[in-house]
Amino acid sequence: MCGIIGISNHPEASKIAFLGLYALQHRGEEAAGIISYDGKEAHVIKQQGLVADIFDESAILNLKGNTAIGHCRYSTTGSSTYKNVQPFFVTHRKRPIAVAHNGNLTNIEDLYQRLEESGSIFQTTMDSELIVHLLVRSKGNELKAWFIDVLSQLEGAFSLVFLVGDTLVGARDPQGFRPLCLGKLGDSYVLASESCALDLTRAEFIREIEPGEIVIISGNKIESCFLPKQKEARRAQCIFENVYFARPDSHIFDDNVYSVRKRLGAQLAKEHPAQADFVMPIPDSGMYAALGYAQELEIPFEVGMIRNHYIGRTFIQPTQFLRDFRVTVKLNPIRDVLKDKKIIVVEDSIVRGTTSRSRIEALRQAGAKEIHMRISCPPIKWPCFYGIDFPSRKELIASGHAIKDIANFIKVDSLEYLSLEGMLSVMKSSREFCTACFSGDYPVRVPETQSKYLLE
Ligand code: 5GP
Ligand code: MG
Repeated sequence: MCGIIGISNHPEASKIAFLGLYALQHRGEEAAGIISYDGKEAHVIKQQGLVADIFDESAILNLKGNTAIGHCRYSTTGSSTYKNVQPFFVTHRKRPIAVAHNGNLTNIEDLYQRLEESGSIFQTTMDSELIVHLLVRSKGNELKAWFIDVLSQLEGAFSLVFLVGDTLVGARDPQGFRPLCLGKLGDSYVLASESCALDLTRAEFIREIEPGEIVIISGNKIESCFLPKQKEARRAQCIFENVYFARPDSHIFDDNVYSVRKRLGAQLAKEHPAQADFVMPIPDSGMYAALGYAQELEIPFEVGMIRNHYIGRTFIQPTQFLRDFRVTVKLNPIRDVLKDKKIIVVEDSIVRGTTSRSRIEALRQAGAKEIHMRISCPPIKWPCFYGIDFPSRKELIASGHAIKDIANFIKVDSLEYLSLEGMLSVMKSSREFCTACFSGDYPVRVPETQSKYLLE
């Protein structure tokens, strides 16, 4: 997964990009980069690590120019190496072209084959580089026609920001898998994955970029057009952004993430009530659903476990040993709150089951005497091909096991998940979401070779 940001027509463009990335850090903790353009030269800084560690004041001062785009990343395609750090950047006809991409393309095999057969060579193993190759090959000089031609050839998930000289371009795939929004800061426009980035840059939220929309921003002028495919495409915004990925203070997919999560929790309480001394979340991700759950049943809410904030998201650690270790460091129970208590523990999701199993054990050791676990989304059974790093079916615990078996594995007295219908019923536009990870109903054709391995 990734976070993207873009700004044009601002004397401190790279500072704005930096602040935006800082607010989007949760979308990718592996690497980050900013590229700026000062009218003559492009300046790039990209590196593995956290945004705050990569960019200091002098770095920002070196990133001169009024136009900048930035990216922070988890690797979903391409390995986690320096050459795969975005934005991806080339010079073409003496003009810089750079792209930052969030989402996964699903037709990269076809595109690679076509490009390689006609002579392209590649520097990275990222699908984002493909987009730049397509761009420099596309004929015509007018930006709008250029982008429509190129983006029409892509399939799958893409929220994109481009820097083309002084011009900033933003686009979203016709299904709208990943979020992208538009803000205004004085005479400048800002594009960002989530509105929490606009808040930090003090830009005013204007609207979301529509699925299938391309916006071209030059100076203080903005022009919009749509991909032809947008007309027949069904909207398939990633519902897991709402469940887990996005920040609760963001407004995405026409809703506030915090309120969606509380509604998911309330719906979960209606479907699977339980009696207990109190409701508690697995912090931080289970916090808001737990609050909704407790309020719905009028059961006290407690925080029985404290999150260590000096550690990032634990999910994408390379080995199971590291994941276990990090989870223990990250979440520590409070004995005095838990001793001899009957509790309901709310978590946003179970993927492999690692977090739940280890933290439930810790809650028991801290004295909890009865534990009922509730999950604010349905069982995750299918891998994601559109940008969320859900592993193969083999590794997804709910794919090979009944809920009863999962309850035994994580050692809870009861375990219940929110239903798919219940989940959709609390969304503003229930027919506009991708639910493939729960239902196996993939809205866009999935890549053949990858699916052979992942869907086994
Ligand atoms: P599990 O331990 O079951 O594999 O993972 C579940 C935990 O990981 C939950 O606490 C959930 O909040 C979190 N999680 C779910 N999906 C993702 C993801 O895509 N990335 C990260 N970093 N965490 C995730
Ligand atoms: Mg979590």
